Amino acid sequence: MTATVPETQTGAAAAVTTWLSAFSEALAAGDPAAAAELFLEDCYWRDLVAFTWNIKTCEGRAAVAEMLRETLPGLQPGNWRITDGEEAADAGGVIEAWIDFETAVGRGHGHLRLRDGRCWTLLTTLEELKGHEEPRGLSRPMGAEHGASRDRTTWLEKREHEASELGFTAQPYVLIIGGGQGGIVLGARLRQLGVPTIILDKHGRPGDQWRHRYKSLCLHDPVWYDHLPYLKFPANWPVFAPKDKIADWLESYTTIMELNYWGNAEAKSAAFSEATGEWTVNIERDGQPMVLRPRQLVLATGVSGKPNLPSFPGMDRFRGDQHHSSVHPGPDAYRGKRCVVIGSNNSAFDICGALWENGADVTMVQRSSSHIVKSDSLMEIGVGALYSEQAVAAGMTTEKADMVFASLPYRIMHEFQIPLYDQMRERDKDFYDRLESAGFDHDWGDDGSGLFMKYLRRGSGYYIDTGAGDLVANGDVKLAKGQVDHLTEDAVVLDDGTELPADLVVYATGYGSMNGWVADLISPEVADKVGKCWGLGSDTTKDPGPWEGEQRNMWKPTQQDALWFQGGNLHQSRYYSLYLALQLKARAAGIPTPVYGLQQVYHRS
Ligand SMILES: Cc1cc2nc3c(=O)[nH]c(=O)nc-3n(C[C@H](O)[C@H](O)[C@H](O)COP(=O)(O)OP(=O)(O)OC[C@H]3O[C@@H](n4cnc5c(N)ncnc54)[C@H](O)[C@@H]3O)c2cc1C
Repeated sequence: MTATVPETQTGAAAAVTTWLSAFSEALAAGDPAAAAELFLEDCYWRDLVAFTWNIKTCEGRAAVAEMLRETLPGLQPGNWRITDGEEAADAGGVIEAWIDFETAVGRGHGHLRLRDGRCWTLLTTLEELKGHEEPRGLSRPMGAEHGASRDRTTWLEKREHEASELGFTAQPYVLIIGGGQGGIVLGARLRQLGVPTIILDKHGRPGDQWRHRYKSLCLHDPVWYDHLPYLKFPANWPVFAPKDKIADWLESYTTIMELNYWGNAEAKSAAFSEATGEWTVNIERDGQPMVLRPRQLVLATGVSGKPNLPSFPGMDRFRGDQHHSSVHPGPDAYRGKRCVVIGSNNSAFDICGALWENGADVTMVQRSSSHIVKSDSLMEIGVGALYSEQAVAAGMTTEKADMVFASLPYRIMHEFQIPLYDQMRERDKDFYDRLESAGFDHDWGDDGSGLFMKYLRRGSGYYIDTGAGDLVANGDVKLAKGQVDHLTEDAVVLDDGTELPADLVVYATGYGSMNGWVADLISPEVADKVGKCWGLGSDTTKDPGPWEGEQRNMWKPTQQDALWFQGGNLHQSRYYSLYLALQLKARAAGIPTPVYGLQQVYHRS
């Protein structure tokens, strides 16, 4: 390696600079093989849009070389350096550094881990497009236009003018269907990037998605994990925000970020024309039919948005109340009633807990095993290092925490998770013993890697215990186990013949893949073409292989031109919306976006 290492650099920093300069030389020489030689055989290069115009992890030296062979022409990566103000560090034989770089069209940020002088993990992310930077800091808008002008229009007049034109005499470049947090934060980023965008939601007001959920719901994730882009929650914001408070925040955010948000607007159907490169989207706004013709269509209709409502014999005969957890109104009407909740994950526990607190007679029906972690243990052991008041005090920012998270390749992430869940298992042993003695079928994920991997792999199968776990462990909430065979007029009957008398049945039976929305809105053929959304292909329960290494279809190009998916928890919506917004902006600006490694489709739903 020929490197110019500044004399002031020693140790870890010198090792990083040496590596970066050799890497930079190999890339500048258009030599993928030489660049790949700088990686360990067993290496991971995760790229978020900067090299691949895709979200892609290359695993192993050969995959790195192959990716570079296709992406290098025209890319002009250069100016590789340790990020200003950051220092490289040696952590037990692994040298780590934050890095910056540029390509012909953008500026990037990333993270590097070296072992024995070679790259073990590399994260490259596109931060901004040259010539299309967000107007902030020194280039923030003036607001006031000093001087004298007879044509002066105010900010409000301009906003009203835009709202009167967009969707009527001017078409949005992007249409986002679904105005939950996913649609809203993507809309906020596109607004800053100057991409004309409309967000549609069938609900009346932003935040209604949260308002309509069961009344006891508070976020299970802590505030440091939940910030939206641009506008952080204030320092007095509760650790676990109640759902109606989050709803109000989303509504205010939509106004402050100047989004074109159409409430009471439902997308009814959509079709893409290969000939014109345009979508035709039929909508109903305030009961009136309308047509929109965007170039790009984003479904932000919710990973937990399409209820899985089971179909059991006898549901039509049952005389009590029955509904999916997504429309459960809360416990008020069920004091003293016999309530059967089918399911044993987050919603089931939350709903059972609230019903019990309200004096109902509650039975949970567990159909398959579930994973439970105590909220305080998860906060301390699972997320505290990156997202907590202590992390903030130690200088951790949300942005940096997101990047650290992103720098861990999915293929080996479970190896980092398993020891954390081993600690939780030890710490809360008494609780798990009681839970299992109560007959609860508990698991830690197929490989013991716990909640976060379950979330990424299947998006289900767990409860973050905020108190209802003890109700099941001590028998206050009764536990029944087995499959539902049928319903009678006043009971749920299990496959072993157990009869559970019921005035209320709640189906806490989860949600379907987002490509179900594609089938409803576009066509079953396009839904099949696009395939399953979510999951890594880990070949664990409910995450069938083959290995994809990234979440299927999320935030990246799909097999259907100009169709995108945005969603996930608040952390994912915040972080990945940047990369989706940049992909959309590049297309709007006519920047070539050759996609490397477009994912194959193996599963239809
Ligand atoms: C009970 C529960 C608790 C959760 N707790 C947390 C938590 O603590 N922390 C966290 O980060 N995440 C949590 N999540 C997960 C996730 O963050 C939420 O589901 C969140 O609401 C997802 O946001 P979204 O914007 O992707 O989708 P949603 O909020 O589901 O919004 C989708 C929107 O699309 C609209 N829509 C659908 N079809 C159409 C159409 N044809 N036309 C117009 N509009 C349409 C719907 O009206 C809806 O408003 C929870 C989820 C559930 C169900």
